[in-house]
Amino acid sequence: MEDHWVVDVTDLQSVRFVCTACGAAVTIRTAAFKDLQARCPGCDVQWSIPGSLEEKALRAMMRSLHDLAAAAKTAPIRVCFDLTTEK
Ligand SMILES: [Zn+2]
Repeated sequence: MEDHWVVDVTDLQSVRFVCTACGAAVTIRTAAFKDLQARCPGCDVQWSIPGSLEEKALRAMMRSLHDLAAAAKTAPIRVCFDLTTEK
């Protein structure tokens, strides 16, 4: 059985970062994102390395989500995400 959702980029207000080691989570609004904290608040494992490719990609993703949502009112296309989960 599958569940399927279509999410408009304007509905994406924040992103949740979940630690794969302990399950602790941090939710950050795309509009307020500056940096991902360097270490997990739950188990202190390192989450990001400043200047790494992953850190740069994460920063670009958060900025893009915010910019696309901000531009949606005048954009000629809607940006949507297809989400599917299997149960
Ligand atoms: Zn953790």
